[in-house]
Parts: sequence; C-alpha cells; structure tokens
Amino acid sequence: MNTSQAEQPSGDEQSRRAYARQKRALHLANMVTATAALGVLAWSPATVKVGRMIQRRTKRRPLATAVGLLATAAFSAGLSLPYDFASGYILERKYGLSNQNKRQWFGDYGKAAALGVMLLLCLGSGFYALVRRSPRRWPVLASLASVPLIVALQAVAPIYFFPLFNKYRRLEEGELRDEIVTLAKAHAVITDEIYVVDMSKQTKKANAFVAGIGSTCRIVLADTLLDNFKPDEILFVLAHEISHYRARDAWKLASISGALAALTFSAIAAAGEAAKRRPQSWQTLDEAGAIPMAAFVANAVSCLALPAINGMTRRMEYAADAYAATTQPELTEPGVRAFERLGQINLAEMAPPGWVEWFFHSHPSLRKRISALQRSRRAAPEPDTSGSRPWSDGGEAC
Ligand SMILES: [Zn+2]
Repeated sequence: MNTSQAEQPSGDEQSRRAYARQKRALHLANMVTATAALGVLAWSPATVKVGRMIQRRTKRRPLATAVGLLATAAFSAGLSLPYDFASGYILERKYGLSNQNKRQWFGDYGKAAALGVMLLLCLGSGFYALVRRSPRRWPVLASLASVPLIVALQAVAPIYFFPLFNKYRRLEEGELRDEIVTLAKAHAVITDEIYVVDMSKQTKKANAFVAGIGSTCRIVLADTLLDNFKPDEILFVLAHEISHYRARDAWKLASISGALAALTFSAIAAAGEAAKRRPQSWQTLDEAGAIPMAAFVANAVSCLALPAINGMTRRMEYAADAYAATTQPELTEPGVRAFERLGQINLAEMAPPGWVEWFFHSHPSLRKRISALQRSRRAAPEPDTSGSRPWSDGGEAC
C-alpha cells in the first residue's frame, strides 16, 4: 500500500481524452497490423517453402508443428512488441500512471511471454495431435474439449499464473475488514474468498475483479482501491463484485469463450479446405506452413466477435451495478462517487464515442453507469436507516 492521492495523475478531461485517444490508436493499429501481416504470411508461397524446409529438417511431424507454432508466435510477438511497449510503458509513464521502470516492465512482459509459450506448446500440440488423429471430426472434438480446458485454465489462473506477477493476500484485520466481512456474510460470500493484490507494484490505477472459477473463485480488491477510495465507495465496489460472484459470471464467461473457440475451429476448418486447393499449397493443417493460416483466422474471428462479446460483458456489468444498487440503496450515492473517482484515478474517458464503446469496451462508459445508478436511486424507496439492512441472504457462489 504505497500510493497516495497526492501522487495521482491530474485526471482533467482533456488529458483523459488524449490518453484514451492515444491508447485506442495504438490498439487499433496493433490489431490491423497483426491481422494484415498474418494474412500476408498465411497466403505467401514462401511460407509453404519454409514449412517444407522445417519438415525436412525436423523429420518428425509433431516437432515440425511445434517449430511452426513457435515461429508464428515469434512473428506475431515481434509485430506487437512496439505497440505493447508504447501503450503499456511509454503512455503509462507519460500520463503518470505507471509505477514501473523499464526493467520491471520488461520483466513482467518476459514472464507473460514465457507463460504464453508454455501454454501455446501444450495446447497447440494437443490441438494438432487431434487434427492428425481425426482429420474430419476434429472441429467438433476440439470444440468439446475446449470447454473443460477453458474452465481448468480459469480455475488454476489465480493459484499458479497470477502470483507470477503480483502478491495476493487475504484481507487484513481492521475496521474496513469488519464492514467488508459484514457485507460479504449478508450476501452469503465466504470472507476467505476476498483477497487484496499489490497492483501498486505496476500502476496507480485502481481495480477490483472476480478471479477463478468453482472452488478457486475469489473476489480481488487492488491495494490502490483500498488506498484511494473512501470506505463506503469500497463497499459499493465490493457489492458489485459480489454480484458477479453470486451470478456465476465466471461460468458465463467460460461459455462465451467455449462458443468463440467452436466458431474459430469451424472457420479454420473452412479456410483450410479452401487454402488446400491452391497450387503448391500445404496439404494438411498440421504442417508447419499451415500454422500462420490458423493464426490469421483465429485473429480475424476474435476481432470480428469482439463487439458481440463486449456487448455481453457490458450487460453483466450493468446487472452487477443494479444488484449493488437494489440490495443496498444506501451505497448508491457512494457508487456514483466511486465511478467519478475511478475516472479520475484511471484517467478513464467518462463518455467515449458510441462506436468506441460498442467495439472496444467490455464495460459501459462511466457516464452511463453513473446515470443508471442515479435512475435507480430516484426509483428506489428511501434507504432504511434504522439499522436493519436489506441485504439478501442465502444463495450460491460462482
Ligand atoms: Zn464488474
């Protein structure tokens, strides 16, 4: 807990808009460059030749596939690194949001890349083994296998992956803890499942989220949130996260990811059939030269599906705000303050252009969330100030 309000960025409207515009331009440029470059690589005759050379040198098909996976990942990472550095390091420093120096930033980037390579080799090798064994039925089998895999990755992430980057600890004793415990118990949430993360290691931005799934599901509050928000604002944020937790939103996200995986596999199968008919083309999807095509299709499907996925997550966010406001009307006004403070601290654009929110944002704009809270405050009966609290009891966690 080492941030202070005095160190926070200025957060005036002009800087917020400039910050958002520059972030967005980099994100969009990265997306277009990555998709276009993978498209060129996928359909280039040189890729087929390099793929055959890898096959000759490695002799064994699974090894050639692994080399193809690594080469394609290195190509994509090489293209994205300048954008990631500009967005994640230069802009964050320029706007006074970062708590990292260059070495620390590259340290986290390297760890994320190593984790990505490990997962790519494990999951990619399994995927291509399935393609070899079932050349016709693999899209259905891979779609079926993706659901338990997504759930397993979501379950282990807070135990094995997140601690590579930050320290997670259970909430300490103290006055705020007592209020948090009371609130959590009223919503049938076990307080052992509330954690604090040292997000101040990387950033001055504040955040809270639900991580894990099933028995590893937990609510995580950033130390930057606890340091910079008033207790009643923190309680509103917690009530919002409790709604995600109780509504089993982690399972909904896993289902959405499963549907996206099924769509991606169908698109790869269709594009693969078309690509094979080209003269001098590779003949099976597991050839090293075919891997850029699968990467291009996966990239294009995830870009095209982004607005639909963001539309679904924005609905979950509105529902979580509504749950917090209706179960605890006395926290609605602190909720409005929390959103305003969040905009200030995170340099968030309060009301981005409509198309930007539709395409890029997983959360509704802060202005819309504040308006929804104010509407619910006007519609709700006067808060009960007699001491008895209208919080629900019972219910299941995610
Ligand atoms: Zn949320």
